[in-house]
Amino acid sequence: MRRAPRGALALGGALALLVVGAHAQAPRTRSVGTPSRGRLEHGVSLEDSEDYVRLSGPGTQWGTPELVGLLARAAGRLQRHEPGARLLVGSLSLQHGGRFPPHESHQSGRDADVSIFLTDLDGRPVEATRFVELGPSTACGPEEGRTLCIDPRRTFLFLVALLEDEIARVRFVLLAGDLRQLVLAAGRRADVSEQMLRRVEEVTALRTGSARHRSHLHVRIECPEDDRGCGG
Ligand SMILES: [Zn+2]
Repeated sequence: MRRAPRGALALGGALALLVVGAHAQAPRTRSVGTPSRGRLEHGVSLEDSEDYVRLSGPGTQWGTPELVGLLARAAGRLQRHEPGARLLVGSLSLQHGGRFPPHESHQSGRDADVSIFLTDLDGRPVEATRFVELGPSTACGPEEGRTLCIDPRRTFLFLVALLEDEIARVRFVLLAGDLRQLVLAAGRRADVSEQMLRRVEEVTALRTGSARHRSHLHVRIECPEDDRGCGG
């Protein structure tokens, strides 16, 4: 038997260590199939933070690391711009994805429901305790004995915070057309680039399902580039 040269042995040892190290890491998340017919493997849970309020239970807030990270980072960016503008986070996906009634999608860890920001009737920013259904003519709705209305400016700034993210890419945001117009009008008065304004217009462009979204934003992110089983 030939003796391996010392260098080769050292290299072999280093490789073995690398392999052991790779196995010791958390299993890789996969978003499988489409958001309407799919599942989530090794998803991550959105943990508590001072930057947002989780509305639904821990069993309903699983997603890909891109989605969970996006929500946490965007909520943090918004808070730094607008202290007190705390995001309410509703459903993401179940731990292993799959069917999640009453949602039609939310199956593969790439969807999240989050709040539309609200004011009181005098236009003062208010933190709601839940999603508030906003009427078609007033863009206001009842919550805990008071009437709250859309805050187009802070809603716009949250969309900007989503789109400024350097890791996750937003595919679209569902929001009813009349509410979207209010948000875009506030965006035209905000201190953002023309390019960012166009991006907000693009991701909120009306599509199937937009009209139903009068109490919250539905955010979908793109598939991770290296996840071949992910689609839709
Ligand atoms: Zn949704």
